[in-house]
Amino acid sequence: MIKKMLSFFLISGILMSFTSGDNSDKLEKKVQRIHAKCLTVDTHCDTPMQMIKPGFNIRDEHKAPQSRVDLPRMKSGGLDAMFFAAFTGQKPRTEENYSKAYFIANQMIDSVHLMVDKNQDIATLALNTDDLARIEKAGKRAVYIGMENGFPLAKDLTRVEEYYKKGVRYITLCHSYHNDICDSSSDSKPAEHNGVSEFGKQVIAEMNRLGMMVDVSHASDKSFFDVLEFSKAPVIASHSSVRAVAKHNRNMTDEMIKKLAEKGGVIQICLLDDYIKEPDTTSVKFRRMKQVMKKYREGAGKMTDVEREALSKEWYEVDTMNPELLPTIKDMVDHIDHVKNLVGIDYVGVGSDFDGGGGLRDCADVSQFPNITRELLLRGYSEKEIRKIWGGNLQRVFNAVEKYAKKNRTFKNFEI
Ligand SMILES: [Zn+2]
Repeated sequence: MIKKMLSFFLISGILMSFTSGDNSDKLEKKVQRIHAKCLTVDTHCDTPMQMIKPGFNIRDEHKAPQSRVDLPRMKSGGLDAMFFAAFTGQKPRTEENYSKAYFIANQMIDSVHLMVDKNQDIATLALNTDDLARIEKAGKRAVYIGMENGFPLAKDLTRVEEYYKKGVRYITLCHSYHNDICDSSSDSKPAEHNGVSEFGKQVIAEMNRLGMMVDVSHASDKSFFDVLEFSKAPVIASHSSVRAVAKHNRNMTDEMIKKLAEKGGVIQICLLDDYIKEPDTTSVKFRRMKQVMKKYREGAGKMTDVEREALSKEWYEVDTMNPELLPTIKDMVDHIDHVKNLVGIDYVGVGSDFDGGGGLRDCADVSQFPNITRELLLRGYSEKEIRKIWGGNLQRVFNAVEKYAKKNRTFKNFEI
């Protein structure tokens, strides 16, 4: 009790010293200094969806909410590294859709490579944990590649290595519907595999062998526990939040977070409104969003490209309605607090989901990331803790994944 009271007075003291007039300058300086010193990593954005569209140049500074990530704003927001995800929506598993998913994923991965090639003076492709510090030292942005949804693997295990060689360093096993790898947290149909499938088990083993991070975001609870059982290396949730703070199937329960931490993994808190704060079910936005989602679900896989484009425009319009009602960084940091109190500071980070639904009232794009650092300081987080949140924890997991692969390397890894 005394300990609790002391920490209350200590935090209140810090708050008072920061918020009283002249000290706000002092706080701003501290925010800038600490934020600049941290190796900052965001583990999830869907910006490649924009990058494959003609006319989008990541070197130009854009405006939120239409665009939330580009190289100038990464710099002004002090973001050193971003995982650019090659995302494919889950569609019925027909031969045609497998080919399309494979094509789109390759197109997105190529767009990331092309972006790095064209902007070598300010960005560098990153493949390993150590690349981050080296690239940051050179004053450039580190560009990592992730893959959201294992749909493009199309039941072909050799594609895991193919993607590894293309620079992909994590695969989010599934998206909003069950796939060949595992059951999803969002599919309304009954479980198909009761967790991870036989093929999924092989995919995880292959990712472990190669040194790719297994990403459990979007996986069902049962799939999550299976992954934790099968994976020989720690795993990440590249963009998930806490179910005890905001009740949503996409968020992780305390039991899941405990298990994740026990196995040395990390949960990267995402900035998507409904995952951060339970939505107001009486709002116009909520009702309209439900209608759009219903249309999407009914038409999934059957829509023409034009219909899909129109629907995604409609979704975007509803999603960006009333930005003043969006949750704030305070709400998001409540999730970080919860993880810290539950399992400690070593198991939490940030995965925005920008350009894929993420965006808060006071963190609408990457340029506003220092606002998170400010809130952490106001809540009494130390510089060391902030450094862990902004990338230290992720680096530890990534390192362990690489180490496992190196230690267990087989002849199959070497090419002639
Ligand atoms: Zn996602």
